[in-house]
Amino acid sequence: MYDVAIIGAGIIGAAIARELSKYNINIVILEKENDVSNGTSKANSAIVHGGYDPKCETLMAKYNVRGNEMFEEICKELSVPYKNNGALVLAFEDEEVKILNSLLENGKRNGVKGLKIIDKAEILKIEKDINNDVKAALYSPTVGIVDPIELTIALVENAVQNGAKLKLNSKVTALKKYEDYFDIEINESKKILAKTIINAAGVYGDYINNMVSNNRKDIIPVKGQYFLMDKSEGLRVSHVIFQCPTKKGKGILVSPTVHGNLIVGPNAENSNDREDVNTTLEAMHFIRSKANKSVKTLDFSKNIRNFAGIRSYLVDQEDFEIGEAKDVKGFINCIGMKSPGLTSSLAIAEDMPDILKKTGLKLTKKIDFKGERKKINFMSLSIEQKNELIKNNARYGRIICRCEGITEGEIVDSINRPAGATTIDGVKKRCRTGMGRCQGGFCTIKIHEILARELHTNMEDIVMDKLGSNIIV
Ligand SMILES: Cc1cc2nc3c(=O)[nH]c(=O)nc-3n(C[C@H](O)[C@H](O)[C@H](O)COP(=O)(O)OP(=O)(O)OC[C@H]3O[C@@H](n4cnc5c(N)ncnc54)[C@H](O)[C@@H]3O)c2cc1C
Repeated sequence: MYDVAIIGAGIIGAAIARELSKYNINIVILEKENDVSNGTSKANSAIVHGGYDPKCETLMAKYNVRGNEMFEEICKELSVPYKNNGALVLAFEDEEVKILNSLLENGKRNGVKGLKIIDKAEILKIEKDINNDVKAALYSPTVGIVDPIELTIALVENAVQNGAKLKLNSKVTALKKYEDYFDIEINESKKILAKTIINAAGVYGDYINNMVSNNRKDIIPVKGQYFLMDKSEGLRVSHVIFQCPTKKGKGILVSPTVHGNLIVGPNAENSNDREDVNTTLEAMHFIRSKANKSVKTLDFSKNIRNFAGIRSYLVDQEDFEIGEAKDVKGFINCIGMKSPGLTSSLAIAEDMPDILKKTGLKLTKKIDFKGERKKINFMSLSIEQKNELIKNNARYGRIICRCEGITEGEIVDSINRPAGATTIDGVKKRCRTGMGRCQGGFCTIKIHEILARELHTNMEDIVMDKLGSNIIV
């Protein structure tokens, strides 16, 4: 019997798994997909928000502000790219200047440090490409950017290294509560037992809750679409550039990514389909016109990819739902994780041991927890370090992804790490192959061959992404 079963290997489940792996308990992570970070955590704006906009005294405000403080250290520990570049929220009308002032006050109440309103001259001094019509901006110096996919993977890897079990292709299809444990049905057949359950199933969190709780939840999926621009546009702005938030979200942003690209989006559209990550021309036109209002010089011909992600909005509830369900002892929800869910993840995980102790679970700290994760990023090394590495392993001397400069050594490492890659996109998510200008046009076949070789399987059995997405049939 497991002490804790975590349902979902997105950023929330991953952060919780890593935090709980610091304790002497048996943990299992159940993920319906064939890889971790295949849901919302792989398709979002990747911003570590400041915490000035969630309403004061909500869980969103509490976890956003604390989460923001934790990113730098944990990303360093896990070798995950993170940059604290600060943000500007722009106002173009007098009414919007009033919104900036209320954001400033709300942010101060939430405990956000360093917030201030700056005028047009100051804005144009630090961001020369901002539209001249701008009147003022809220400057938030604690905002940052991160690679959310690599962070999710790194957290799971580290949890697995510290004893957690990861079960992929394991969809939870039913839950039954007994006196002091749960019976968990996987893929409509196999059963496992756990004393406590953490529901981190993202956009399906309501389904999992409704399997055991009479306090029903409903999630509305809200889609957001993006442009991802080539690195030649990556220096267009250096801060995260927001517009004034509305009820539907934080508005269209323009931001450098932590890898040097430029991201523009997202819109917000209610959807009936939780798997609908298609992009549409209509949404692209909308995002483009809104983004041009913030940054006048955007060159959309440098777009290399469009993508979409799905936010989880709880019906009749603005805040996150975090904690033990009132009517089901030992069942803990972490759902309704719209933005700032990524930013809040590390802080929610930090609170989880206390939440679990209150359910009666005994937790003692491990003495041999290893928090550090090392990973080679070939292109970031000095010429001496590169030569030394190639001397010891010639695979680091063979560039496979020309756009991003990813070596065969890094690809093999991404496959052989704990919770390693088994798909073409799995390699992409771990070491950025195919993320550049050619979007995998040149390197996909080589990665396909390396995967088959390292996994001792046929190329026909390697999929692009989800099960069934075979390339050779
Ligand atoms: C457009 C957009 C922009 C955003 N921008 C930001 C931002 O800039 N900053 C920020 O802080 N937040 C942002 N967010 C929010 C953030 O991305 C989410 O809060 C976060 O990724 C949610 O993580 P999760 O782990 O709850 O969900 P997910 O990443 O979706 O993970 C849930 C996992 O559960 C699995 N699962 C579901 N059902 C089952 C089942 N029955 N059995 C087993 N496994 C199951 C899924 O396959 C999935 O892997 C944004 C979200 C969107 C959509």
